[in-house]
Amino acid sequence: MQQGGNRKTEKLLLERSVPGRVGVVMPDLDVPAQPPPDDALLRNELALPEVSEPEVVQYFTGLSQLNFSIDTHFYPLGSCTMKYNPKINDEIAFQPGFAGIHPMQPIGQSQGALELLHKLQGFLGEITGLPAVSLATLAGAHGELGGMLMIRAHHLANGDTGRTKVAIPDSAHGTNPASAAMAGFEVVELASDKDGNVDLEALHEVAGPDLAGVMITLPSTLGLFDTNIVEVCRIVHEAGGLVYGDGANMNALLGRVKLGDLGFDVAHLNLHKTFSTPHGGGGPGAGPVCATSQLAPYLAAPIVTTNGGSYELFTPEKSIGKLSSFHGNFGVLVRAYTYIRTLGGAGIKSISGNAVLNANYMMNALRGVYHLPYDRTCMHEAVFSADLQKERGASGLEIAKRLLDYGFHAPTMYFPLIVHEALMIEPTESETKETIDLFIQALIDIDREVTENTELVNNAPHTTPVARLDEAKAARQPDLRWQPEAAD
Ligand SMILES: *Cc1c(COP(=O)(O)O)cnc(C)c1O
Repeated sequence: MQQGGNRKTEKLLLERSVPGRVGVVMPDLDVPAQPPPDDALLRNELALPEVSEPEVVQYFTGLSQLNFSIDTHFYPLGSCTMKYNPKINDEIAFQPGFAGIHPMQPIGQSQGALELLHKLQGFLGEITGLPAVSLATLAGAHGELGGMLMIRAHHLANGDTGRTKVAIPDSAHGTNPASAAMAGFEVVELASDKDGNVDLEALHEVAGPDLAGVMITLPSTLGLFDTNIVEVCRIVHEAGGLVYGDGANMNALLGRVKLGDLGFDVAHLNLHKTFSTPHGGGGPGAGPVCATSQLAPYLAAPIVTTNGGSYELFTPEKSIGKLSSFHGNFGVLVRAYTYIRTLGGAGIKSISGNAVLNANYMMNALRGVYHLPYDRTCMHEAVFSADLQKERGASGLEIAKRLLDYGFHAPTMYFPLIVHEALMIEPTESETKETIDLFIQALIDIDREVTENTELVNNAPHTTPVARLDEAKAARQPDLRWQPEAAD
């Protein structure tokens, strides 16, 4: 977004129209002229803008910059991991052999694509320590549903029909209880203790013969590594349950901690977050499910297998079935594969190191200015509360809006639900110290503005093309294209 708004794009293309102006001059006819279509097929009243090519380019380029994006702005939207997506990922995904392949193409003609999928399964199995991998699911929430259905299938296959409950911490992402409920489970909320870990006493209370499993996000949505996690897994297993891992926060653990080593049985990854596919606005994603070999027979189909020579598609023996058409979101899988291959083992490990370093650097710089409800070393993100600012008249929402005037995308607000006035900030590993310093300074300046000029903050943003949207209406009745005024 340009500071002060982009005047040029405020004028619609049609309003710039000058009769007779053209963008493209057609070459002289070098084929026999044909009669025009029948008059009945032609419209005379269709108003098309008569503009030059540069005007069209400026108009659409201007429109494309009205929004915030990772390629134009720092985007510290907590939990979403809006890090930089290296362009090489797109270049490889756009290779004609990948972009042009048809999902119905015979296996014999698709060996290269299947090899890529097979290798990606292997990398994700290695990264999570959960070697059985299905790439079929298309989003984090979709992976959660897949994992929950696997847990259900596992208990039913053991004749264990009484396991109807899934326990989920009160800090969880909203998709967790929704996925467990969609898979047919009753959701039980698990309290967090004062340090933000799972409350072990609360866990003991639910760990009985009706517990199918727990869903744990590690690190949690508070940006904290649950220091009791091994004990949590032990308690659940002892009660006959399984442990599901929401791996949306793997950015914090890559190359250092494997969920399988800690005791998790099945987990999903968000390739569009941790493995750098452009996302937001509901674009294509991928939420592969990684499981122990014990749960491998239940994975969603298809799985790519190899006999050492060629690659095949395979449906596991007790598979929960298909959860998507064909092989999942192939383009996203190519991007994740490229990202992993270009970084290599050492590069992958440096992601988590730098993500955690950046978050702690920011958290320490803002400690005392913004309240930290769980004041301990954080992982890849830190959750503040705007309670101190609210006392002076500006809530978390106001502060987030004011950040737009400083040229920063807002952090995640009002989530997790257990933190009042939550501001959840994830700087990611791909930003420089200089950018993070500017962001820190902006939050310090806004805190001062809250005292000195509360109205300025409460009426923000002042520099964006639109200020305060009706977010519910924007989601339900999106206004995505220009339409001519209705004719009388
Ligand atoms: C993003 C996220 C999800 C859901 O992932 P989608 O790909 O948006 O469906 C689940 N849990 C956590 C912690 C997340 O951050």
